[in-house]
Order: sequence, then C-alpha cells, then structure tokens
Amino acid sequence: MSKVRTVFTREEMFEMNVKSLKERGVTIEDIATVTYNQQKKYTKDIQFSTCLESVEKILSFRDVFHYIQLSIAIDVLAEKKLLPQPLQDIVYHDLGLFGVDEVMGLDVAGTYGTIGQTNFGDIDVNKPGIVRKLNEDGKEEGICHTFLDDIVGAIAAAASTRVAQVMNEADAHQVDFEMISLFEEE
Ligand code: MG
Repeated sequence: MSKVRTVFTREEMFEMNVKSLKERGVTIEDIATVTYNQQKKYTKDIQFSTCLESVEKILSFRDVFHYIQLSIAIDVLAEKKLLPQPLQDIVYHDLGLFGVDEVMGLDVAGTYGTIGQTNFGDIDVNKPGIVRKLNEDGKEEGICHTFLDDIVGAIAAAASTRVAQVMNEADAHQVDFEMISLFEEE
C-alpha cells in the first residue's frame, strides 16, 4: 500500500518547481533575467548570480510551491478542455475581467512585502522577457498560460525585492551609526 504524502522538503519542492516550470518552457535563468533587468534600474552593481540565488530561494518556499503547481495544473487542464464550463472558456481565453490569476501573483509577490507587489504590478503591465513570451504564446491555439504568466512575473518581482534587501543589508554593514534619542534627559 502506498503511503499518502503531502509534505515535501525544500529541496524536493525546489526540484519539482524547476521541473514543472521547465516542462512549461520556463527556466530559472529566464525568471532571473526579468529580476535583473527590473532591479538594475534601482540598485547599483547588482550581480546576475544574486538574482539567480533569489529566484532559487523563492522556488523552495512551500506557499510558492503550492501556487506554482496549482497554476500549472489549471492551465494544463484548460488546454485539455477538462475544466467545467463556463470556467473552461473563461480561463482558456484569458478573460480580462478574470482576476484570480493576478491575485495569486500578488500574494506570491507579497512574500517580500508591499514593494514586491509594486514590482509585480510593473512586470504585469510591462511584460518583460519571458512574461511577454508566455503571454503571446498563450494566445495560440491549444496553449493556455493564464495562470503561469502571473506566477512567473510574481516570482521575478519577489526575487527583485529580495535582491534589493540583500544589497541594502550589505550596505548597512559598511557604515557606523549611532542613534541619538530625542527623549534623552540631560
Ligand atoms: Mg494571467
């Protein structure tokens, strides 16, 4: 009798995420490129390796694992025309007024706070790199990327925010600072 398994280690979740994304035409380098291009506008001297490392870290989080797996499953079911109507047509044709995919993206981006969500908004509107490709390919017959484009954009946005935090933390260690209390008595 096989044992039911619902929890996985970070390494297992990371590996499954990388595999699932790859099957849908997305590499971690594709996501890190969106991260790099977004964050280089705000942070000097960022390294592509820091972006890659941030994407990898986010791909090992349990919530993100659930979102990625669910998103891809819905897209694939829509491609196979297996969703109940009218959901099948709404998801397959990526109805503009359908916002569940964006809400999922916002939550993933929110892993790194409000700035992560603002970064997601920027990627959602401007559709850089792999996000644009997914969006365009998703319009072709037999392909559905309704959920995947948002999740991928959200991971890039969360990673971009993490890169900024890592860089700021490093900067903070460079400078001495003595806090002066406004309320200190003479
Ligand atoms: Mg979408």
